[in-house]
Amino acid sequence: MALLSVRHLSLTKEGKTILHDVCLDIEPGYVYAVVGPNGAGKSSLAAVIMGLHGYREIEGEIIFEGERINDLSIDERARRGITLAWQEPARFDGLPVREYLRLSAKGHSDEEAEQALMLVGLDPARYLTRKVDQTLSGGERKRVELAAVVAMRPKLALLDEPDSGVDIDAVERIFDVIRYLKEQGTTVVLVTHSAHVLTHADRAFLMCNGKLLREGTVEEILPYFSSRCYPCNHPNSPVP
Ligand code: ADP
Ligand code: MG
Ligand code: MG
Repeated sequence: MALLSVRHLSLTKEGKTILHDVCLDIEPGYVYAVVGPNGAGKSSLAAVIMGLHGYREIEGEIIFEGERINDLSIDERARRGITLAWQEPARFDGLPVREYLRLSAKGHSDEEAEQALMLVGLDPARYLTRKVDQTLSGGERKRVELAAVVAMRPKLALLDEPDSGVDIDAVERIFDVIRYLKEQGTTVVLVTHSAHVLTHADRAFLMCNGKLLREGTVEEILPYFSSRCYPCNHPNSPVP
C-alpha cells in the first residue's frame, strides 16, 4: 500500500487553477523529488498534503496510510506522522532552540535534540540556548528547523526547497540529513527547483502549470529539468 495517495487533486485560488487533476502515489521508504519551473505548483502541492490554511478547499482526495485525511487539521496530520518544513516559520519565534526541539521530539529523549543539531552541523553547546528568532541567520534557522524534523521522526517529511538560503558548505549537510531520515525509515519528499537536489532522490515527479507531467527515475526526469525543456507550454520551455 502506498504511504500517501493523491487522487485527482485540483486546487483553485482566486479563480486561478493552481493544481489540476494531480494523481500520485508515494511509496514508503523512498526519497522523492518534486521538480518543475517556478510557479509550477510544487509548494502548493506540499501545502495541500499538510493541510495548511488556505489549502484545504480542494477537489480530489488525500489518502495517508489508507485513511482519507482531507478533513483533518494540520495538527491531526502531524500526529499521524506528516511534517512540512518550513511550514510556519513564525510559530516558534522567541523560543530557545532547546525547547523548540523538545517540543518537536515529544516523548523522545533530550539527547535526540542534541543529536539532531549535530546532524545538521550546529554545535549543541552553542545553539541549544540560542533563541529561534532573527538573531539566527536564515541558513541557521533552516538547519534548526531541519533538526526539528529529524527529532520528530516523521513517517513523511515534506521538505520545501531544503537547500535555499543555506550556505554552500552546509548544503552537503542537508543531503546527509536526507540520507539519515531515509535510514530511519522516513519517506522524504523534496520540493525543489535544483537539479543538484533532484540527484539525491530515488524517484521524481515533474510538474508544470499545476499539472503532473511525468513520473520516473531521476535519470528519466533530469534531462527535462536540466534543459528546461518541459513537455508543456511553460514560457521557459522551447517545446510547445
Ligand atoms: P512553485 O512552488 O512550484 O514555485 P507555487 O505552488 O508556489 O509554485 O505556486 C503555484 C502558482 O500558484 C503560482 O502561479 C502562484 O502565483 C500561485 N499561488 C500560490 N499561492 C497562491 C495564493 N495563496 N493565492 C493565489 N495564487 C497563489
Ligand atoms: Mg516558487
Ligand atoms: Mg515553491
